[in-house]
Amino acid sequence: MLLGRRKRKRQQLKKPVRKIPKIFVCPHCSKESLRIVIRPKQGEDKAIAEASCGECGFCARFYVPNIFEPVNAYGKVIDLYDSFEGDIEKEIASNKCIGELDGSRIEKEEEDEGAEEDEG
Ligand SMILES: [Zn+2]
Repeated sequence: MLLGRRKRKRQQLKKPVRKIPKIFVCPHCSKESLRIVIRPKQGEDKAIAEASCGECGFCARFYVPNIFEPVNAYGKVIDLYDSFEGDIEKEIASNKCIGELDGSRIEKEEEDEGAEEDEG
């Protein structure tokens, strides 16, 4: 005689956790280690996007519209990188971010040391 063993199968409801890592290719070192985070600002329609590379330390911080996704912000990172006229290595070495936020600026600032300029 077979004893019907009843197994209670519990269905676990898994909530879909949408945590897709937002990793992009770093414009500086070309490695896929650029993380972009969008931080919405409360009460404002803009958010702060922060991109930082875990490989070379490149970092960019800027404002984006609230509706932006990291992938949208990525385009701006590339833009910022392309139009950055300072010494990016220097920015990285001093833990600075490029972009309109956080001190480091796109425009060149006068330095008191005799900086060499190479303009044609
Ligand atoms: Zn990098």
